[in-house]
Amino acid sequence: MKVIVVGAGIYGMCVAHELVSNGHSVTVLDQYDIPNRLCSSYDHHRLIRYPYGTQTEYAKRVPEAFEAWNRLWASLGRSHFIRTGSLSVGRRNGAWFSASLSGLETLGVPYRNITAPECREKYPWLEIGPNEIAFETAGCGILQAGKILESLDVLLRTKGVVFEAGQRITSFSFDDPSVTTHEGFTYQSDLVVFATGAWHSHLFPSEIQPIKQTYALHKDVPGFAHIENGCPIVMDLADDHGFYFVPASDQFPAKYGNHSAHMIGDPTLDREVTREEQQEMRSLLNTRIPDGLGESEKFGSCYYAMTKTETMALVRTGSVYRLYGGSGNSFKFGPLFSQYLADVIDGRLELGRAQRLISGVQ
Ligand SMILES: Cc1cc2nc3c(=O)[nH]c(=O)nc-3n(C[C@H](O)[C@H](O)[C@H](O)COP(=O)(O)OP(=O)(O)OC[C@H]3O[C@@H](n4cnc5c(N)ncnc54)[C@H](O)[C@@H]3O)c2cc1C
Repeated sequence: MKVIVVGAGIYGMCVAHELVSNGHSVTVLDQYDIPNRLCSSYDHHRLIRYPYGTQTEYAKRVPEAFEAWNRLWASLGRSHFIRTGSLSVGRRNGAWFSASLSGLETLGVPYRNITAPECREKYPWLEIGPNEIAFETAGCGILQAGKILESLDVLLRTKGVVFEAGQRITSFSFDDPSVTTHEGFTYQSDLVVFATGAWHSHLFPSEIQPIKQTYALHKDVPGFAHIENGCPIVMDLADDHGFYFVPASDQFPAKYGNHSAHMIGDPTLDREVTREEQQEMRSLLNTRIPDGLGESEKFGSCYYAMTKTETMALVRTGSVYRLYGGSGNSFKFGPLFSQYLADVIDGRLELGRAQRLISGVQ
């Protein structure tokens, strides 16, 4: 079958990988370069971890997600995963913190509780309040997102996938599957997959809202902030804000950010991190790492494709599929959910079942 995939982020690339491996003829179109450094999938790091608050169905999929990544590493001939472990902190009775812990219990994921004094002793650089506790988990870590896209790009070209950069799709037809670019060129195919991330709202405005996320990168960080010195990923599982910290390695800078979702924006137009936003970020850092991380190398922004339920979705209209959504948790499911979609296309998985798995419904 001839398939057009619109979007060369992790979803578009993984769908293309599955389909070309199953014998389909695949063309991937993107409005920007491929890989696209502005897309949400292009970064030094994306995290794969188990604590997911009330989104237990997603936490349940994490072991399968690891298996899907392992299959991808086998195809790529190398892994882009770095195991770090994680430290989650939060208020003893916080809803998201408690739900994350009971999710770990339900799934049988090993974790270790740490009291605030123990935490201060082990991680003296980290601020933890008197009413807070923490827990450590071992099995999670960093997916080197940008490297994954670059490796997929090379692999897919050798497998015969055709890439067309600079092709912004502005219209499409559901009946006679085709997509048309801003310059009026039409690509005809048997099937179309839209994997357009936060730009999905440009084509399907009612389905997602693009939410701006800001982060800071630090290159020359103090010794405690290095993976090589045993520094874990740190997650604040608060109900009303969302500090996270990714340690540095010899391959990439450290990063911190705020994963709470409140700034609606446009993924093409609103990329600047304003002085106020930078100040907010520094204040947030100060609440958890009061001595700071040294000079910031760079502030950056990137977008969530937020659905009303904050989950992902798979929708089919005729021969046109749309795979979109998710907030800060979708990168890790790229290979797995793309495999579900390929299984639907090739008749190995019922559409309704795939939709339930992808949207995190039991
Ligand atoms: C700051 C931040 C931190 C995150 N942290 C994590 C994390 O730790 N763990 C995790 O699992 N997930 C995380 N996520 C979420 C994850 O990164 C995204 O959900 C995921 O990468 C989205 O992939 P995608 O392929 O759907 O979209 P994208 O990667 O954005 O790709 C979409 C592509 O489609 C192209 N496109 C769009 N519209 C058109 C069009 N009309 N014509 C042609 N091309 C088009 C775009 O140019 C783009 O290249 C994070 C996200 C952000 C923003």
